Amino acid sequence: MSKEEKDTKITINETEEEEDDHSGERKAGWVLPIFIIGLLATCYYIFVVELCIFTVQLLEAKVTFLVIFHLLFLLCVWCYLRTVMTPPAVPPAKFRLSESDKQLYLSDERPQVLQEILICAAKDLPIYTKDPKGDVRYCTTCQVLKPDRCHHCPVCNVCILKLDHHCVFLNNCVGFSNYKFFLLCVTYALLLCIFTSAVSLHFSKLFWTHQLPNSPSKVPIIVLFCLSTFFSIILFLFGLGHSELALTNVTSREDNDDTSDDTTEENNPYNLGFGKNLREVFGNEKKYWFLPIFRSLGDGFSFPMGEATEDIEKNAAFAKPPNEGI
Ligand SMILES: [Zn+2]
Ligand SMILES: [Zn+2]
Repeated sequence: MSKEEKDTKITINETEEEEDDHSGERKAGWVLPIFIIGLLATCYYIFVVELCIFTVQLLEAKVTFLVIFHLLFLLCVWCYLRTVMTPPAVPPAKFRLSESDKQLYLSDERPQVLQEILICAAKDLPIYTKDPKGDVRYCTTCQVLKPDRCHHCPVCNVCILKLDHHCVFLNNCVGFSNYKFFLLCVTYALLLCIFTSAVSLHFSKLFWTHQLPNSPSKVPIIVLFCLSTFFSIILFLFGLGHSELALTNVTSREDNDDTSDDTTEENNPYNLGFGKNLREVFGNEKKYWFLPIFRSLGDGFSFPMGEATEDIEKNAAFAKPPNEGI
């Protein structure tokens, strides 16, 4: 493999980032989270009051439904709040240019010279990813050298470590700091919807076949069945996609990046195998795997790499001091 081929081992498409002003989007972004919370509150009322209290007759069934529902509901809300309220992790100070480098960078416009300043600044940093032109990635908005798997979110207007995606239902970015919470939130929401759908289906059938007398609870319970079934299907498909990404250690951002073929599928350098990939997100201690408590491994800016490690480390030609002076 030639040096040029190796040097393009990890490339990332940087277009579309940073250009537009999305601050309005960020402010308007609370509409969807409030809608989700309203929907959850409505479903909670129908299940607990209309179904369990007014409709279910047997005490044992009432207690069983309420205990399972509240357990899943509390876990789901806990994970949701942790995902929404955890601030995204940003690159640490060592990825910023020194004052003298910053002055040099701002005082010149020649791409070659600017790139040499960045190459020199990146030489002691664990950066292996380059843009499609083979240049060191630099965010002019945040004024940081971008670590591997870090991207600028135009809505949050900040560079985010191991950015997965900006989620409109959370009004927050999903990245290194909250990816575990996000996956758990989707999982518990799916379990909650499946449970609610199964119980409300049973009672909808009893109303439908006149085994239960008509009551004002009939319509809300049928509505609850439709809503929970709809969200079960959506969450199942969504969760399936994210499980595959988590198991193969690919972020949604990398998966959608059509120029970074080498960071996906069989050539993905971050893929350590299913077990290790899961531990990267959920941590080494299995007792914390199912709770929204941060245990993800690593620092968010340097990543162990699988079989491709050797090649990539050899590729770090750009991390050496440039031959020519600046
Ligand atoms: Zn940035
Ligand atoms: Zn964002």
